[in-house]
Amino acid sequence: MEAPRLYSTKRVQSLKPTKKIPLEEDPTKASDALPLPLHLTNAVFFTLFFSVVYFLLSRWREKIRTSTPLHVVTFSEIIAILAFFASFIYLLGFFGLDFVQSLVFRPSPDVWIAEDEEEENEVLLAKEDARKVPCGQALDCLLPPLPPAAPIVTAQKVFDEKPVTVLTEEDEEIIKSVVAGTTPSYSLESKLGDCKRAAAIRREALQRLTGKSLSGLPLDGFDYESILGQCCEMPVGYVQIPVGIAGPLLVNGREYSVPMATTEGCLVASTNRGCKAIHLSGGATSVLLKDGMTRAPCVRFGTAKRAADLKLYLEDPDNFETLSVVFNRSSRFGRLQGIKCAIAGKNLYIRFTCSTGDAMGMNMVSKGVQNVLDFLQTDFPDMDVIGISGNYCSDKKPAAVNWIEGRGKSVVCEVIIKGDVVRKVLKTSVESLVELNMLKNLTGSAMAGALGGFNAHASNIVAAIYIATGQDPAQNVESSHCITMMEAVNEGKDLHISVTMPSIEVGTVGGGTQLASQSACLNLLGVKGASKETPGANARMLATIVAGAVLAGELSLMSAIAAGQLVKSHMKYNRSSKDVSKGSS
Ligand code: ADP
Repeated sequence: MEAPRLYSTKRVQSLKPTKKIPLEEDPTKASDALPLPLHLTNAVFFTLFFSVVYFLLSRWREKIRTSTPLHVVTFSEIIAILAFFASFIYLLGFFGLDFVQSLVFRPSPDVWIAEDEEEENEVLLAKEDARKVPCGQALDCLLPPLPPAAPIVTAQKVFDEKPVTVLTEEDEEIIKSVVAGTTPSYSLESKLGDCKRAAAIRREALQRLTGKSLSGLPLDGFDYESILGQCCEMPVGYVQIPVGIAGPLLVNGREYSVPMATTEGCLVASTNRGCKAIHLSGGATSVLLKDGMTRAPCVRFGTAKRAADLKLYLEDPDNFETLSVVFNRSSRFGRLQGIKCAIAGKNLYIRFTCSTGDAMGMNMVSKGVQNVLDFLQTDFPDMDVIGISGNYCSDKKPAAVNWIEGRGKSVVCEVIIKGDVVRKVLKTSVESLVELNMLKNLTGSAMAGALGGFNAHASNIVAAIYIATGQDPAQNVESSHCITMMEAVNEGKDLHISVTMPSIEVGTVGGGTQLASQSACLNLLGVKGASKETPGANARMLATIVAGAVLAGELSLMSAIAAGQLVKSHMKYNRSSKDVSKGSS
C-alpha cells in the first residue's frame, strides 16, 4: 500500500518548562552524603532548627536581663549558632530554593512553543498561517458561526464497574455446555439476557475449544448491548484502532478536525500536511453533485420480450409517479429519484435510485424496492424475482456503473494551492506535481486498466474516516473511486488540484454511526445524527468533508513522491524498531 510522507522530521520539544529530575533518583533518601530516609532527615533538621532558635533566644533574653554584652559567647552558644545556620541552609535548600529560583529565573515563554525544524519556513508560514489553533485541537469556525459551546462531558457511560470480568461457577457450567456443543454459542445473549456476560462466556469457550489465547483482545470497556441485533453477532471482544486527527481542514469556509482511525504510520501526518497547504491557500471548495443510494434487483421472464416490456414500463415517465408512491411508502426519508434498467437476455436488472436523508440508505432503498417488486407482481405475474440485489447496484464491488452514474453522494472538491505553499509546505514544485499527476494518476492508471482508480491513495483516507465515523468500511471499494486532476494556473505559478468522487456512501444515522466512539467522531465534525433543519444535510456535509480530506491526502502524497521522499519517510515512520518477530502464543 502506498503511503504518504510526513513534512517534518523534527523532534518536538516538551510543551512545559522542564525541571530536571535525575532518572535514577531515589525519592526516599535526602542525599548520598546523608543516607537517611528523607522524612527522617527533614525531622532532624526541623527539630535542630527550632531547638537552637529557642536556645539562642532564651540565652539572648538572659544576657539582656543580666546586662552581659551580646558579643561574649560561650562554647555552647557558638555550637548553637553553627547549628542554626546549618539547619537554616538545609531547610531553605529543601523547601525554599525552587521558589526563590522561580522568582529569579522566570521561564521564557519560548519554551512553551514546539520548535520547527526549518525556522526560515516557519517564519514565512506563521505570517500566512491563518489557522486559529494548532492541528488537531478543537476549532473555532469563522463561517458560519458555530452553535454556543456545550459543556464538554468527559465521562461517558461507564460500561464496566469491575475492571476485569470474573466468571462465576454458574458461568463455568455454561462454558462447559458451549464447549460440549449442548448450548449454541449464538444463543447466549438471548438465554442470559446479559450481552457482556454472554461475550465473556463465549470468549472463554472459544479459547478452550481452539486452544488459542485471546489475551490482547480486550473484553471489558465496551457496551455489548449497543451492538446487539445491529452491528455484530457473537462478539468475543473488540479491536482497538487508534484515532488520529488531521486538520483543521478548511472546506467551504468551515474548519474541521478530521478523525482518522488507522494503523498506517504517516497517513494522518501526511493528510495533516495537506490540510495545512489547503488552509494556507484559503481553503477548498467542495460541491455535492448528486445524492442517491441505489439497489438493483434481478428479475427473470420466460422471454426477452417480456423482460423488455417491463423495462419500457419502468422507464416510461408516465409511470414514475405511481411507482414512486409505492416506493416511498417504505420510509419518510426514502424518496425515489429514478429507475435505470439493463437487460441480459430474459433477465432484467432494475437500478432504483433514491434519496435517503441522513442514512447511508441501503436498508431504506431495499425496503422501497421490495414494495415496488410486490406491486409489479400484479401486472407482471410471470416475473420471477431472482434476488433483491442483482449486482447492478453495485454494492461493495468495483463497478463501472458506480463510476459513471454515481452511487450515494457524488462530490467534486477543488483548491488552488499557492506556489509558495507548494514549495515551502509541500517541498516540491507546481511543474513536478502536474507532470507526476499526468504520468501516474492518469496515464499510469489507464495503463493498469483502472476503474475509478485515477488517484494516488484516496482509499487510505476514505477507509480511515469510515472506520472512525462508523461507516461501512466495505463500501470503501466504490467510495474511493476518485480522479485527481492537477493543472498549473496563474501563469504557471499556482496549482489547481481537484478530486472528483462519484460514489461516496456515507450516513450519520443507522449502522455503526450510533456507537459511542464513532458517534463521538461524528460529533467532532459537527455532523452527528439526523440533521434537525434539513434531513440529509449532515450526511451530505460528511461527504464533502471526506472529499476535502482526500484532496489533502492526494496533495501530500503526490508531493512526497514528486520530491522523492516517500521511501525515506516510510522507513522512518512506518517501520518500528521493535522486534515483531516474536510469535503469538
Ligand atoms: P440504512 O438505510 O443506512 O441501512 P438504517 O435503516 O439502519 O440505515 O437507519 C435509518 C433509520 O433511521 C430509519 O429507520 C429512518 O427512519 C431513521 N431516521 C431518523 N432520522 C433520519 C434522517 N434524518 N435520515 C434518514 N433516516 C433517519
